[in-house]
Amino acid sequence: MSIVNGNGIFDAARSGHYAVGAFNTNNLEWTRAILAAAQETNTPILIQTSMGAAKYMGGYELCLNLVQQTVKSMGITVPVIMHLDHGNYEAAKECIEVGYTSVMFDGHDLPFEENLEKTKEIVALAHAKGITVEAEVGSIGGEEDGIIGAGELADVEEAKQIAATGVDYLACGIGNIHGKYPANWTGLNFDRLKELAEVIETPLVLHGGSGIPKEQIQKAIAMGVSKVNVNTECQLAFAEATRKYIEAGKDEEGKGYDPRKLLAPGTQAITDVVKERIDWFGTPEA
Ligand SMILES: [Zn+2]
Repeated sequence: MSIVNGNGIFDAARSGHYAVGAFNTNNLEWTRAILAAAQETNTPILIQTSMGAAKYMGGYELCLNLVQQTVKSMGITVPVIMHLDHGNYEAAKECIEVGYTSVMFDGHDLPFEENLEKTKEIVALAHAKGITVEAEVGSIGGEEDGIIGAGELADVEEAKQIAATGVDYLACGIGNIHGKYPANWTGLNFDRLKELAEVIETPLVLHGGSGIPKEQIQKAIAMGVSKVNVNTECQLAFAEATRKYIEAGKDEEGKGYDPRKLLAPGTQAITDVVKERIDWFGTPEA
């Protein structure tokens, strides 16, 4: 199957009270690991690149080609959505141009009116090409320049206005954080999620899905979250498995230094995390 947009997939998730996982890729191994998990579980999946990862890999077109060609060579038959994660205005436009099937325009740090106007513009450009759009309102916490934010709450009125632009999925801050969660984190704000879900029919997105306890993620999904982003957890699993391989001296045994061997445990660890999360999210078979 070639890559698809998010049409139908996320509306079905919202009405069916399950979520579809969105996993960030960084290179060939990550792409293969994520796709393998989707195929093995026979579930739809979203592969996404941040602006930084795309720059690291050599640009959006390369990332798109990498995913498309890997889908083809691995014989992947489940729906795969190619998504831009946290794009600014220029990145979203570029990915629409290049042919991503879904883009996130993240204007949360702009004045609200500007976020609203630019979201409308991106929705018009994307929908004309059958590309789905995620927008963000309120900020998602996390470490930025050494300052750790607690995770701000999305304003319900602002969220309603952004949803009314026709976005296909909406990321709202409900106390969630990118990266590792601090020890004093107080958890997701389910009161705010309830208020948002009551007035917004658009499938909601939970960012910073790494480190939120399973029970809280599942409760959020039952309340209207239809897309959960996972990034840090895969990074940690990859690093841990790779460290174990080297610390065990396996890179010094025979041809253990061959990257195809050295990177294999980390790659498998990513597949395992993705499969576990798909199970948590209750994603049904395609
Ligand atoms: Zn995010």
